[in-house]
Amino acid sequence: MCGIYASYSLKAEKKVFEGLKRIEYRGYDSWGVATLVDGKLLLKKEVGKLSDQKNFKFVESKLSLGHTRWATHGGVTKVNAHPHLAKNKSFALVQNGVVENYQKLKSELQSDGYNFISQTDTEVIVGLLEKEMELNFEKTLSTSVFIKVFKKLAGRNTVLVITSEGQLMTIRDGSPLVAGKNSQGEFYFSSDVLSMSPDAEKYMVIKSGEMAVFNSEDSSFSVLDIKTEQKIKTDFIPLEHKLDLANITMDIGKDSYESYMLKEIHEQSSMLPNVIRDSKPKFLMAAEMIKKAKQVFTLGCGSASYATGHTAYLLRKTGILTLAVEAYEADSYLELLNNDSKNSVCIVFSQSGETADTNEIVELMKAKGVKIISVVNMPGSTLTQLSDLSFMLQVGPELAVASTKAFLGHVLWGITISDIICGSKFNDLEIKINEFEYKLKEWFANKSIQNNIKNIAKKLTKCEHLFVLGRGNLYYASLESALKLKEISYIHAEGFSSGELKHGVIALISKDTPVLCLVAEDKNKANMLSAISEVKARGGKTIVIAKENNELYDNWIQLPDTNDYVFLSSVIPAQLITCFMAVEKGYDVDKPRNLAKSVTVK
Ligand code: GLU
Repeated sequence: MCGIYASYSLKAEKKVFEGLKRIEYRGYDSWGVATLVDGKLLLKKEVGKLSDQKNFKFVESKLSLGHTRWATHGGVTKVNAHPHLAKNKSFALVQNGVVENYQKLKSELQSDGYNFISQTDTEVIVGLLEKEMELNFEKTLSTSVFIKVFKKLAGRNTVLVITSEGQLMTIRDGSPLVAGKNSQGEFYFSSDVLSMSPDAEKYMVIKSGEMAVFNSEDSSFSVLDIKTEQKIKTDFIPLEHKLDLANITMDIGKDSYESYMLKEIHEQSSMLPNVIRDSKPKFLMAAEMIKKAKQVFTLGCGSASYATGHTAYLLRKTGILTLAVEAYEADSYLELLNNDSKNSVCIVFSQSGETADTNEIVELMKAKGVKIISVVNMPGSTLTQLSDLSFMLQVGPELAVASTKAFLGHVLWGITISDIICGSKFNDLEIKINEFEYKLKEWFANKSIQNNIKNIAKKLTKCEHLFVLGRGNLYYASLESALKLKEISYIHAEGFSSGELKHGVIALISKDTPVLCLVAEDKNKANMLSAISEVKARGGKTIVIAKENNELYDNWIQLPDTNDYVFLSSVIPAQLITCFMAVEKGYDVDKPRNLAKSVTVK
């Protein structure tokens, strides 16, 4: 996961520090910067969040490289934080990814006498580079040595090096990296394009299999293909233009909200209609592709897998056999791709478009000829580039680690595509979503509903376990609600189909066990009411999210009257409950422990 930011500018270290803060959502267990001062690399590292640093003293320098870590190998310690300095001090290195064969490489280096000081897989790259430099009698790292060593690494990795000679050198294979520049002659590298917008005017995405080298001596920049070691034409694109195209606003402030998550939950009432805005031709094209396909898959991870699961459910209800695949469990499904796979379609959801587990399966499916339709929220992402047809969610940057508006955006995409396949007119869907926007705004403005949710969250703060029941149209809503509760308020929450209750789960219900129930006004309502009675008969306490009250409910959270989009409105109270619970418990809502936003490592 991790965030990488590098700068060549008058106040490089400060720029790196500020840049890292903008990408800290990618990893925040520790951080570090390596800055070139009078031909020497000066390292600063700390455990904890960079944004917690106060009174940081910046050194004067024109070249600096930084990293915020999400540890995969080796504990969260200062020593394990990146950058890692070569023993000969000629370079410092940061990595995003996992060196999957690090154990073998490490023991080879150890038998050659290399002394490891950290527990990271990253230090293996440092050791290999140093060894190869020695063999080649190099004092400064050359591009050919870097490429040779990189080719020994298994896994999806992006590595960036700062040298004492004033170079930034990187090879990307998997995790994203973008180069940027401006008219003042400044130069940047970053893990994501949006984070560079205050600094860079133009950008280019470094593609997998490419090496990029910036030399501060003469401000030269070149890109090589690591297979041929030949130069490739560099192609910078105006950054503003890209943001406009994607309808992305750089509104990355919290406004008056106490967390990004709360702001993003509220933004759902205004941003969700963007999901279908201006995309009629594309939706019609996607609907045709899906209708004609012999096999239809959906693919995602985490919240995105619940959104794809629900999309598959809706497509099956239109009569299209659709298999919902969690990317990390895709193996057996890949066996279903036969000679006819050219007539298969896979619908892929990812907030960042950089989810390593997802992209790896997409690459395998693509190689077999499967058509990829993707829906992402980040412009210029790897997944977009891999797709035959790509959609932007257009719900604006999602900076809280736990997904809210991107998740509901994905679900809305799934509802829209299945409505179109069922014969709905696109213009009618636009009217319907605008009505939903209006009702949702009213709902958010209703103080008594909002206070009720706050009070319920307060009461739940002490509970250790919570169950979420849904069924049919709200089954995946229950899974997502439980995931939100785990991610942010750290309680054990499980989502189930209410049908599952008497087949096992009911054994866990005893006096006062809280059970959150999602009830829609549809044919599943009667079954849900029976499940609620069964919970109550065992002393459980029910909190029911529904349009109408019922004497069976211990607590009722009123939903807006939006039956067509009941999935969307049912998840929002659960998002709010977990957000309020986390605040009550004193947790960092936006940066929950052990998590990171773009899951770019496997
Ligand atoms: N594998 C490296 C580590 O654990 C990098 C992880 C990351 O991408 O943040 O330090």
